[in-house]
Amino acid sequence: MMNIVILPGDGIGPETMSVAVNVLETVAARFNLPLNLDHDVAGHASMQKHGATVTEALLEKVRAADGLMLGPMATYDFKDEAKGEINPSKFFRKKLDLFANIRPAKTYPGIPTLTGPFDLIVVRENTEGFYADRNVESGNSEILVTPDVAISLRRITRTCCERIARSAFELAQQRRGHLTLVHKHNVLKVTDGIFLDACREVAKEFPKVSVDDFIVDAMMAHVVRAPERFDVIVTTNMFGDILSDLTAELSGSLGLGGSLNAGLQHAMGQAAHGSAPDIAGQDVANPFSQVVSASMLLSWYATRSGQSTYQEASKAIDAAMQACIRDKEVTHDIGGALGTKATGQALVRRLQSGH
Ligand code: NAD
Repeated sequence: MMNIVILPGDGIGPETMSVAVNVLETVAARFNLPLNLDHDVAGHASMQKHGATVTEALLEKVRAADGLMLGPMATYDFKDEAKGEINPSKFFRKKLDLFANIRPAKTYPGIPTLTGPFDLIVVRENTEGFYADRNVESGNSEILVTPDVAISLRRITRTCCERIARSAFELAQQRRGHLTLVHKHNVLKVTDGIFLDACREVAKEFPKVSVDDFIVDAMMAHVVRAPERFDVIVTTNMFGDILSDLTAELSGSLGLGGSLNAGLQHAMGQAAHGSAPDIAGQDVANPFSQVVSASMLLSWYATRSGQSTYQEASKAIDAAMQACIRDKEVTHDIGGALGTKATGQALVRRLQSGH
């Protein structure tokens, strides 16, 4: 039995997560998949109920489960941890050591794009880097020196670089065998020196994977100019966060950007985008980012548990999504005329009928 905790999140989260839940329930029925969904809250809903965006009790529940589906969070609203305003994404990534954020981006026939077809994955380190809320044991690594002077620290450790590099090489080895390292070594000579060094050391374990590297600013131009040249891309936390929004949007919409946050014991499916307050409650958000994330979580569990039915369910979700895209049963952001709910219903119908 796979146990998944469902946390709908803020803004568009409840709308898109409801589609992901329907999709999970549909594949559970179709594939006779042992799946238990445990519904709870995080973010603003948890703040109202428990006085904090996340709680230790919720963490214990998630630790005991096999996976977590986390909706987008209104992170910008959560400013003071002392008042219970904890960034839930950081909380789970750090507490469960979900060090690898896997963010695929690929084009689909039927969705208009600025570029030609491509299929790539951004592998982003998730537990340190330029993220002030997660790279120190306690407190925060942004320091207000005087009211007008502030310092932000970026932590890079060889161990974290090695493990994210290994995740990326493993993926590249299963795909087209090419890995691109993205850095700013021309300026961040010490920290990105360690990152590049660690990646090149790990590369020795994967002699069949070819490697190149780009400075992050130039990478933005290369990925817009010719995204098809990239297979797997590995980079540090902040660079990966920015680059993966770009690659998702290039694939047609940020609303297609699904992701998996994976550690050795746990994994969390989570859309790459935020809570999108500008479109929340309007039934226009693209639910596919959340659906892709759910599919990735099932696939991760299939590998971890050795139970291939979960992999079949994941593949069926991907195929149903592709069929919806082909027949334009999609939201406005990717050229359709349906709302969030109707897109979810179309997807469920495809999954039930198997085509
Ligand atoms: P955003 O990612 O929420 O939205 C950026 C743009 O993309 C908006 O125009 C939005 O309407 C659009 N968009 C996002 N998801 C979409 C979808 N599924 N379908 C169609 N369009 C979609 O970025 P923002 O507005 O800068 O941030 C809003 C809040 O989300 C902030 O509080 C921010 O801190 C937070 N945030 C959270 C996460 C996370 O939980 N992982 C990630 C990024 C931002």
